[in-house]
Amino acid sequence: MLSYQHIYHAGNLADVQKHALLAWMLDYMTRKDKPISYLETHSGRGLYHLDAAEAVQTGESVAGIGRALSNGWFAEDHPLARALRSVQAQFGETAYPGSPLIAASLLRPQDSLHFAELHPQEYAALNQALSGLDAKTYRQDGFELAQSVLPPTPRRGVMLIDPSYEVKADYGRLPGLISKYHRKWNVGLIALWYPILTDDRHAPMVSALKGLDLPKSFVHEVRFPPARKGHRMIGSGMFVVNAPFGIEDEAARLSGLFAKI
Ligand code: SAM
Repeated sequence: MLSYQHIYHAGNLADVQKHALLAWMLDYMTRKDKPISYLETHSGRGLYHLDAAEAVQTGESVAGIGRALSNGWFAEDHPLARALRSVQAQFGETAYPGSPLIAASLLRPQDSLHFAELHPQEYAALNQALSGLDAKTYRQDGFELAQSVLPPTPRRGVMLIDPSYEVKADYGRLPGLISKYHRKWNVGLIALWYPILTDDRHAPMVSALKGLDLPKSFVHEVRFPPARKGHRMIGSGMFVVNAPFGIEDEAARLSGLFAKI
C-alpha cells in the first residue's frame, strides 16, 4: 500500500494538463484581493528534481514539461510559467514544482494553505519544500482532512483532489465524496484529477460526476501517447465544480496543443 511515488511521473503530460489548469484557476481566484483557502487532499512531496534517477529512468518529464517548454506552450506570463520560474530561481533549474509549490508560488500572504499527504517520506519532503512558508501540512488521509476542514476559512477557495488511484475503490467513492464536499462547501471550487487508462475505468466515475448536476461543473480531457510501450495511461482528465469563467478557453487552448503531439 502507498507504493506510488510521483517523482517517477513528475512533469509528465498529465502533470502539464493538471498543473496548467490548476495554475490558471489559482490566478483567476487571486484577481480579487479577497483571501482564499487552498486545500489539497493528496499533495505529494511538492518539489521534484527532474534530473533525479527516478525521473530520468522514465523520461516522462522530457515528453511532458520538456516538450511543452521547448514548443512554447506557455507564454511568459502564464501562471504555470510564473510558478516554474519562481521555483527554479529558488531551487535550481532542474526543479519542477508539484501542485503544492505551484499554489504556494501563486498565492498571497492573506491566503490559507492546507496540504494532506499520507506517505511518511513524501510528507517529510513536503514539509521541507514548504519550509519557511505559512502553510499547514497534515500526515493524514486527504479525504478525512477534507471532511474535517470544509467549509474552510476563508470560505472562498480551491480544493485539488489528486489521488494516485492505487486504491481502486476510489473511482467508485469519489462522486459521493465530491457531492458531500459540495454540500458542506457550496462556494468552493473543487477540482478532481483522474487518469485515462486503456480500459476506460474512469468512464463510470465521470458519468456519475456529471450526473450529480453540480453547479458550473466542467470536464476537460486530453489524450496522449503512452509514456512507453504497454503503459496504460493514455490521457488525463480534470473535473471541476464551480469552474471559473473563462476556463473553457484555456482548456481549449491546451486541447489544441495536446492534439498536435
Ligand atoms: N498533487 C501532486 C502534484 O500534482 O504535484 C501529486 C500527488 S500524487 C498523484 C498522489 C499522492 O497522494 C502521493 O504522494 C501519495 O503518497 C498520496 N496519497 C495516497 N493516498 C493518500 C491518502 N489517502 N491521503 C493523502 N495522501 C495520499
